[in-house]
Amino acid sequence: MIKNIVVVGGGTSGWMSAAYLQAALGANVNVTVVESKRIQTIGVGEATFSTVRHFFEYLGLSEHEWMPACNATYKLGIRFENWRHQGHAFYHPFERLRIVDGFPLTDWWLKQQPGERFDHDVFLMATMCDAQRSPRHMDGTLFEQDFVEAPAGVTERSTLSEQKTQFPYAYHFDAALLARFLTKYATDRGARQIEDDVVDVALDERGWIRHLVTKEHGEIAGDLFIDCTGFRGLLLNQKLGEPFISYQDTLPNDSAVALRVPVDMEKRLMRPCTTATAQDAGWIWTIPLFGRIGTGYVYAGDYISPEEAERTLREFVGPEAEDLEANHIRMRIGRSRNSWVNNCVAVGLSSGFVEPLESTGIFFIQNAVEQLVKHFPDGDWDPGLRDSYNKAIAHAMDGVREFLVVHYLAAARADNDYWRDAKTRPLPDGLAERVEQWRSKLPTEQTIYPRYHGFEAYSYHAMLLGLGGIPLKPAPALSLMDGSLAAKELQTVQDQARALVQSLPSQYEYLAQMH
Ligand code: FAD
Repeated sequence: MIKNIVVVGGGTSGWMSAAYLQAALGANVNVTVVESKRIQTIGVGEATFSTVRHFFEYLGLSEHEWMPACNATYKLGIRFENWRHQGHAFYHPFERLRIVDGFPLTDWWLKQQPGERFDHDVFLMATMCDAQRSPRHMDGTLFEQDFVEAPAGVTERSTLSEQKTQFPYAYHFDAALLARFLTKYATDRGARQIEDDVVDVALDERGWIRHLVTKEHGEIAGDLFIDCTGFRGLLLNQKLGEPFISYQDTLPNDSAVALRVPVDMEKRLMRPCTTATAQDAGWIWTIPLFGRIGTGYVYAGDYISPEEAERTLREFVGPEAEDLEANHIRMRIGRSRNSWVNNCVAVGLSSGFVEPLESTGIFFIQNAVEQLVKHFPDGDWDPGLRDSYNKAIAHAMDGVREFLVVHYLAAARADNDYWRDAKTRPLPDGLAERVEQWRSKLPTEQTIYPRYHGFEAYSYHAMLLGLGGIPLKPAPALSLMDGSLAAKELQTVQDQARALVQSLPSQYEYLAQMH
């Protein structure tokens, strides 16, 4: 059996991998993490996807244990500002659509047009975000939804594939604090931490990794090596020569500049969502943590310079940005052709990355470690396990790439070359046909990217209705059907949203109590 697992890299992916493998396989494996003290982690990556709940539950961690330690806040969705035109905003929440007479509420909304804002009319969370509500009452109970939580103290270990209902929120957290928290979690359970630089990787005659060569700790041998070295891809790309497939032709944003802005959360607006504000050559993220805001401009280097991007970001933040040091990052957009080659599996940025518009970096890590456990090799290294793993990883990333391309293609904004070019760039295979279908009928699970990539049809509805650049129409059958039930349901959403705003505490109140 595979006994010795060596993780190279101590960023979010390195410690998430070590903690998860330790939780899943326990004392049956030895996990060693080698991390450089000299080479910095990427230092961003603070908004997550609602499925991250499975990760913390699998580790047996309650929100009270890890959230205060990581300055975490709640995220009910993403607020998109200025993607249609200046001053426009809409939400893409973690909320499935209600169905009336076999049609999603968005279809009925297109037919009945009860208000200006589809997001406020069909989702509860748009209103909750605007009102800065917490998704939990002060006694800790979750606001009412179709999701049923396990009773307090009962841990249910589930993975992404068992997700049947939509969990209503994700988190924002300080990535460095999370890595530190998971370091303690993993080392308390037996993982070994070595702070050193890997200076070489020795291969055997078959081209499999035999051992790492470190600066101060000599050779470190293992059976399975996890490459968590970030954009470098030290083991998989550099040593094993696995090619990287760039997505740059379809997603041109290749750079970012980031700031960490300390703020007083009590005085400041603290919407429970990430905000993505469209700019002349990309977009700016705003991530509210407990005690500071993480913000950054993701942009295409072909359209503006790093200096212009930094200037725009500083103007966007205002006086609070003075004296703060900006972190400039070059992004490698795309994925390794295969993330698992021989006895090396890349997880995190070394495996692949798309711009963080839908906060999928950590979702990719979670998907990778879960899939790795599901495909964990035996001593024979059955190639079928590896091939099946590689397909699952590639599909998830290709699917997310496609969803992000839709963001730019469908954005009504076309006021400069950057936004106009987004409408004429080559599309990933199959997308043009899918978009044509959506013009006739709102996306269904059958007409979106066909493999698991974390997004369901409702997310496509939210984006297409919000972005406004692709004409949509209701199903013709709705003209022949009685719409009174749908009208009632649309009214129910309004009533429920209003009641929730009344009864739920603000996110700040809830988190202040937790801290
Ligand atoms: P890194 O953080 O780069 O860590 C690499 C590790 O490898 C470090 O510990 C380093 O010391 C070590 N290392 C490298 N070389 C050696 C060596 N020779 N010897 C020993 N150790 C070595 N994801 C989200 O989910 N949500 C977001 O909002 C989000 N925003 C992002 C914004 C930007 C601009 C970028 C670029 C990414 C964002 N991500 C986001 C992605 C997220 O940051 C990453 O998925 C996550 O941080 C994982 O990074 P990593 O651990 O793979 O790499």
